Amino acid sequence: MSEDSPARGCYARPVDQLRRAIKSDFSLRVIAAVTTELVAVACSRHSLRGVEAVALGRALTAGCMLTTLTKHDGERLRLELRGSGPLRGILVDARGDGTVRGCLQRLLSAEEHLKLSSGTGRLQVSPAIGKRGTLVVTRDLGLDQRYQGNVEVVSGEIDEDIEHYLNTSEQLPSVLACEVVLDQHDRVQRAAGVLAQTFPGGDTTELDALREILGAGSLFDLLRHERSCEELIGFALGGEAHDDMGGVPLRFLCNCGAERARAVVATLGAEDVEALAAEQDQTEIRCEYCGSVYALSAAELRELAAEIRRQRS
Ligand SMILES: [Zn+2]
Repeated sequence: MSEDSPARGCYARPVDQLRRAIKSDFSLRVIAAVTTELVAVACSRHSLRGVEAVALGRALTAGCMLTTLTKHDGERLRLELRGSGPLRGILVDARGDGTVRGCLQRLLSAEEHLKLSSGTGRLQVSPAIGKRGTLVVTRDLGLDQRYQGNVEVVSGEIDEDIEHYLNTSEQLPSVLACEVVLDQHDRVQRAAGVLAQTFPGGDTTELDALREILGAGSLFDLLRHERSCEELIGFALGGEAHDDMGGVPLRFLCNCGAERARAVVATLGAEDVEALAAEQDQTEIRCEYCGSVYALSAAELRELAAEIRRQRS
C-alpha cells in the first residue's frame, strides 16, 4: 500500500490492475479494471466524497481502460468532460503505463452534497455533472500521432457518455460500465470498470445483451463484494471460455514537481514574476491534478525573473 493510502482495515485487498481477455470464438474482447486504491488516493488528495468521489472515480477508471487498449506504454489519453451541473467538469490524464491522474473543476458545497449524494444502489451523477455538455477525448499515441474526438454529453453519467464516444467517434461497438461503491461515510469502498467491444463490423447482438445487464446496475451489485479482474471478465462473458491477454498494474501518479511549477510561473514573464516577489514572501503553486503545493520564496522568484531576462537577451 502506498504512503498516500487512506487508513484501511487490515484485510488484504486486490491490487489495482487491468486485465484484457478475448472470448475464445473471437467475437468479443473484454477489459476489466479494479481501481479501488487509485480512486481512493485521488479522492483523498482532492478531499472528495459522495457524488464527487463517484464522478471522478468513474472517469479515472474509464481513462485507464481507454488508454491501455493498444499495449503501448507511450500512449496517453486526456478526457475532458464539461457539463452544465455544479461540478462543471472533470479532467483525466491517463497513460499507457497504467498511471492516471485527474480532478474536478469545482467542489460541491455541504448543501449540494446532502442533496446529490444520497440514495441506495447506483448513484446518479448526472445531477452533479449536468445532462448537457461536451466530452473531448484526445489520444496521443506518441511520434506526433494525435487524435481528438468530440461528442455531446448524452446522460451525464460519465460511463454512458464515454461509451457513446467510443460508439460514435471511434466507431468501435462498445459497452462500458464504471462504478464506485461508497462506504457509510461516503468514502470510496470499491471501484472498478468493465469494457466490452466487438471488432469493427462484428455482430453486436452479444454486446446489446451485455449492455442490458450492465445498464441495470449489475456492476454496482457485483461490487457489493470484493471482485478481481478475472471475476469481472467471467461475469461479462457469462462464464464462456476466453483467453487471457495479459494485464497492467494501475496507480494514481502525477508527474508534477518543483521544476514544473517553476516553469509554469516563468510563463508569466519577468515583470510579473518580480511583481509577485514584491507582493509576498512566498508564492504557492498548487497542482490541479493531484493537489500538491509547491512554494517559491521571494528570493527564488527574483532569481527566476533574472534567469528569464538572461534567456531573453
Ligand atoms: Zn500534480
